[in-house]
Amino acid sequence: MLRAFEPTWMVRSVFHISPQKLKQHGITTVLADLDNTLIPWNNKTSTEKLKQWMQALHAVGIKLVVVSNNNPRRVKKAVADLQLPFVAHALKPFPLGIKRVLKQGHLQRNEVVMVGDQLLTDVFAANNAKIRSIWVKPLVKTDLLPTRINRRLEKVVYIMMRTKYRVHWKEDID
Ligand SMILES: [Mg+2]
Repeated sequence: MLRAFEPTWMVRSVFHISPQKLKQHGITTVLADLDNTLIPWNNKTSTEKLKQWMQALHAVGIKLVVVSNNNPRRVKKAVADLQLPFVAHALKPFPLGIKRVLKQGHLQRNEVVMVGDQLLTDVFAANNAKIRSIWVKPLVKTDLLPTRINRRLEKVVYIMMRTKYRVHWKEDID
């Protein structure tokens, strides 16, 4: 049961993940959550930091695709200037959004990774889709309303996982 929420890696933020290391793990496409993973949930547009990380990914030949549960209007506006491909209304923790990206891009499960700030949606969805995942800390301390409820349960799951599997936060993926 607990295994369903276990991420492959736990890294402080998306910007700590080095594109080189992703490449060494055979990753060609990074699937990333939007709110509080790539940009703060209350930011309407993208940030310079995200642009730089995206360019660093592209420099080693890795693509970035946004997989968000938020509505298409919000996601489109947020990534418009970076021209990132995206799936909105992804219905995480169900694997549908992730599977759509795999199918459309003709991608194998072992060449993608899902990055997100929530165990109960992002990491659980990745495990349901049988792909690797990176759990990151939220960019800001506040959350969208539905997320606030999930956070309480997430806290309990994390404490159990920490005790059972001795997982901990790292500066980058191994
Ligand atoms: Mg999020």
